[in-house]
Amino acid sequence: MQHHAPSPYLCPFCAIAAGAESDAVVFNDGKAIGVLGLHQKVGNEGHILVMPVGHFENLYELPSELTGHLFLVTQLLARGIKRAFGTDGITVLQNNEPAGDQDVWHAHIHVIPRFTGDQFHARQGAFMPLAERAKLATTIRAALQSAGT
Ligand SMILES: [Zn+2]
Repeated sequence: MQHHAPSPYLCPFCAIAAGAESDAVVFNDGKAIGVLGLHQKVGNEGHILVMPVGHFENLYELPSELTGHLFLVTQLLARGIKRAFGTDGITVLQNNEPAGDQDVWHAHIHVIPRFTGDQFHARQGAFMPLAERAKLATTIRAALQSAGT
């Protein structure tokens, strides 16, 4: 299987699994992590990345039991984000290889808050500082706890 990560690769998502940016983490069960993405679009704040704790470059390489688990976590977080922000919808995206718009070489699923007429696909994201992501993470964690999850 061809890999696209440079060698050596300082994986930012393995760094999160090791404890970096923990204020932006909304879910961690030791197998999967949900974290506020560094890129957030104005109007769609609360965009979460769901990733395996272990390093796998893309969907093709995920062990099947982990693939299923990641989608269960995606569902849990989609429900949590909907409660947290009162969204009209949620978009789930999963990108592989450069041609598939992947740009971090650790498999991940995007869970994106959506609102009617938000023109999400027409706008660019921007880096959001950790302090702002931490506030969103607090809101999402509260919504997850309010559902007993
Ligand atoms: Zn990694």
